[in-house]
Amino acid sequence: RANVTVIGGGLAGSECACQLADRGVSVCLFEMRPEVSSPAHHTGHLAELVCSNSLKSTRPDSAAGLLKRELSLMGSILLKAAFQTQVPAGGALAVDREAFAHAVELEIQKRPNIQVIREEVTEIPQGSVVIAAGPLCSPALAAQIEDLVGQDSLSFFDAAAPIVDAASLNYEILFRQSRYEEQAQGDYLNAPLSREEYEAFISELIGAKRVIPKDFESRDLFQACQPAEEIARKGIDAIRFGAMKPVGLTDPRCGRRPWAAVQLRAENAQLSAYNLVGFQTNLTFAEQRRVFRMIPGLEEAEFFRYGVMHRNTFIDSPHLLDTSFALPKTTIRFAGQITGTEGYVEAIASGLIAGLNTYADLFDRPRLELPDTGAFGSLAAYATSSEVANYQPMHVNFGIVPPLAGERPRNKKERYAAFAERAISDLSSYIAERSDIWLRGAKDES
Ligand code: FAD
Repeated sequence: RANVTVIGGGLAGSECACQLADRGVSVCLFEMRPEVSSPAHHTGHLAELVCSNSLKSTRPDSAAGLLKRELSLMGSILLKAAFQTQVPAGGALAVDREAFAHAVELEIQKRPNIQVIREEVTEIPQGSVVIAAGPLCSPALAAQIEDLVGQDSLSFFDAAAPIVDAASLNYEILFRQSRYEEQAQGDYLNAPLSREEYEAFISELIGAKRVIPKDFESRDLFQACQPAEEIARKGIDAIRFGAMKPVGLTDPRCGRRPWAAVQLRAENAQLSAYNLVGFQTNLTFAEQRRVFRMIPGLEEAEFFRYGVMHRNTFIDSPHLLDTSFALPKTTIRFAGQITGTEGYVEAIASGLIAGLNTYADLFDRPRLELPDTGAFGSLAAYATSSEVANYQPMHVNFGIVPPLAGERPRNKKERYAAFAERAISDLSSYIAERSDIWLRGAKDES
């Protein structure tokens, strides 16, 4: 019988174990809690939700809603458990966290070929392994991973700047130029600020409401990387000598250097999403929307991802892993937030795909290549694309899906609905093509 070790009985690890078990594979699922805990977990349950009890939107025209539809199509066990233990939450899927963890534990118990071992893994075992130890992976295992991938490829904090929808920007104000290059050339969009605009912006930036970091985060998080508002607080011009420096830029509307500038860098080759360079931030999402919309050219900016700063252990997946999230030349695969795919439901999806690809490897089947038009397919493509520089955790969003063919709807709601429709159609066809994984798989025995 084929055998796989899964490290971490969180969201990704539990889903992965169930998918493998349903395909006849024996699984040793290691979970360190309750003996050893993380700074954010409170119980010994498998699949404990560490913070909010919301698994985000179910709206079919949102990326989070699309991800749930994709998971249903792909047969996710944990998503089913979430719907079974749902509590009222408007257009979102929220769960009773105790009941959810209990439902997941029942699913694990129902599968006799999963052996749950309550033990911290301090050395990566031989054989086929899925590492799903999460953003708060234990220090001993993190040290092992660091040995495996190299010190520069494992991060302990994320520091992500906001990403905005290119279609929501005002190109009458923004101008394209890289510093010291000719105008209208270069890779950056620049938002020029006058002195008055700059001072008003800084005043709001430093006064805005911030997320209160958890105790275990405040200790060393801000030594690792300073949020933009913290830099701004050091003095009125501090950020004008950093992220907002105007040198080498000429505003074509007046032919002069602006007082300050925010640079926006493309997130993808299709130029459909841009990030605010140097604006890693700890402001609340509502405040980011209010304050960053003060930047000229961003008055109506729509945010694909808000900036975040957390304690977060993750590897540089784009430069380490192949497209199936395996570490080349090894029998090790990574799943969940440790790969930099951020969010509860993203972790479930990542565990599901890791399970199916590990099964494919064990039974000599082609690995999955999910269509990149999907919520998870596009995230997986992003997270394993070697072109991604300065990789920071990313959740599903429509800024990383390929543009629609032909004329695209101008209305955002219609555009997102069209993305979702295309994604479901592509994924349904793909699942039908891969009946070796989704239908016959469960009967396999080695
Ligand atoms: P986890 O669910 O954390 O599972 C990893 C498991 O591995 C844990 O059970 C851990 O005990 C175990 N483990 C670790 N090391 C070892 C070891 N050496 N041996 C054996 N077991 C080990 N996402 C959201 O969508 N909404 C939120 O509100 C949200 N809040 C978050 C709050 C915090 C504080 C953090 C850190 C993250 C949050 N996230 C949130 C992000 C992310 O979605 C969750 O962390 C999610 O649980 C990740 O799933 P996972 O399976 O990768 O990791």
